[in-house]
Amino acid sequence: MDGLKYHRILLKLSGEALAGEEGFGINPQNALDIARRVRDVREMGVDVAIVIGAGNLWRGRVGQNSGMDPATADYMGMLATVMNALALMDALEKLGVVTRVQSAIEMHSVAEPYIRRRAIRHLEKGRVVILGGGTGNPYFTTDTAAALRATELCCDVLIKATKVDGVYDSDPKTNPNARRFETITYMDAINQRVQVMDSTALTLCMDNKLPILVLNLWDETALSRALKGEPVGTLVAE
Ligand code: UDP
Repeated sequence: MDGLKYHRILLKLSGEALAGEEGFGINPQNALDIARRVRDVREMGVDVAIVIGAGNLWRGRVGQNSGMDPATADYMGMLATVMNALALMDALEKLGVVTRVQSAIEMHSVAEPYIRRRAIRHLEKGRVVILGGGTGNPYFTTDTAAALRATELCCDVLIKATKVDGVYDSDPKTNPNARRFETITYMDAINQRVQVMDSTALTLCMDNKLPILVLNLWDETALSRALKGEPVGTLVAE
């Protein structure tokens, strides 16, 4: 595996990555686009675990804002991540990539339960492990689930795939002078409240010295270039 900077990655996909133009729901074409990038990375010999969110289907906050019990609304969000995980599984398997879906909330007929050592074994065998169900606990995000699983599964890096090419000091969509960070420390990311991850996820990464790489998934080569160590996106590290 010469020439690779990272050998085992955790790829964090927001649910919106699966949505079509309208910004919600699951667009199988988007799932296939993502699956192609994941296949390319697997073909480089990199172990890939994926945590997927559910913002395209449901967010706990939406329910909470309309008066639902917050924990119930969050459980609905976690269930929605499993739908996204299955959509991704379907797309990957269509391209011949072997996958296993594990869920933090047990649902035996559609996914394996999350078992850390089993997930590691799948990765060692070259299977892409898709982790649904978030952390299995309300009041968390799938970014925190990604930080947790990346640490547990001994990943070299957490790659946060977004629609922009890194972390900016202000919103590049509204401010033409927004500046992209090539690197930023965990502490600065937390203190400056940059739009990268929630503070629980960032703190977990910081405490475990897990680097976070934020890149644009829709740039076709960004992921493979990053894995070869080329400067892509923004690296959040010590
Ligand atoms: N969620 C949760 N616990 C977790 C992960 C997720 O309760 O460990 C719920 C929460 O309601 C969240 C929803 O699942 O709003 C979808 O996850 P997230 O918002 O992180 O998805 P993304 O923004 O990545 O699409």
